[in-house]
Amino acid sequence: MGQGQWTEVDAFLGSLLVGEDDVLADATAAAQRAGLPPISVSPAQGKLLYLLAKTLGAKRILEVGTLGGYSAIWMARALPADGHLVSLEYSPRHAEVASGNVARAGLVGTVEIRVGAAAETLPKLAEEGGEPFDLVFIDADKGGYPTYLDWSLKLTRPGSLIIADNVVRGGAVADGLSRDPNVQGVRSYLEKVAAHPKLEGTVMQTVGVKGYDGLSIARVLA
Ligand code: SAM
Repeated sequence: MGQGQWTEVDAFLGSLLVGEDDVLADATAAAQRAGLPPISVSPAQGKLLYLLAKTLGAKRILEVGTLGGYSAIWMARALPADGHLVSLEYSPRHAEVASGNVARAGLVGTVEIRVGAAAETLPKLAEEGGEPFDLVFIDADKGGYPTYLDWSLKLTRPGSLIIADNVVRGGAVADGLSRDPNVQGVRSYLEKVAAHPKLEGTVMQTVGVKGYDGLSIARVLA
C-alpha cells in the first residue's frame, strides 16, 4: 500500500462522490498553466471543506493561503447568496490567477482576495471589526500557523471552526526533535490548540492524491 493506491482510491472516490466539475478542473489547469505549485487541497478535501461549511450554515469564511483559488471556490459554493469569503494571499501572482478562477466560477461578488503577508492582513481585518467568521481555513506558510491561530481566535465566535491543513507532514509532526521550521510550526500550532481553554480539536490523518498528511479541526467554545 502506498502512493499509487492512495491516488487510485482518490480517483475512484472522486468520480463516485466528489463531483468536481469543469469550473474546478479548469481552475486547477489554469493554476498549472500559470506555473503555480500543485499544492491545493485535493477534490475530496475540497468537498469536505464545502460540506463542513454547509453543515455549519457558514455565512462568513476566512481563508489564509489562496494559491489559485481552488479551495476558495469549493468553500464559497457552500455560502448563501449574501455570504462572504475573504482569502488572504502573499503572492500577487497567485492572487491574480485566483481572481481569474473566481471570476470564471461566477463568484466575484462572494470571494474577496486580499494580497499581503497574512501576519499583516489579519490584524487589518480585525481592526475593521466586521462580523465574526464562522469558518477559518489556514493553509499557508506553516511557520505562521501559531500566529494565524491567535488572529483566528479574535476573528471568530463560539461555535466557529478553525481548520488547518498539512499538519501531519508525512508523519514528521511526531518528531519533537525535528529542526524543520514547517514541522516546528505545525507542532506549535497543535500545542496551542490543545492548551487553549476555548478550543476543542482533533487531527484527522489523511492519505490520497496529495500524499500522507492531516487536517486539524478545532471548534471555538463559549
Ligand atoms: N488553499 C489553497 C488551495 O487549496 O487551493 C492552497 C494554498 S497553498 C498550500 C499556500 C498559499 O499560501 C500559497 O499561495 C502561498 O503563496 C501562500 N502564502 C505563503 N505564505 C503566506 C503568508 N505569509 N501570507 C499569506 N499567504 C501566504
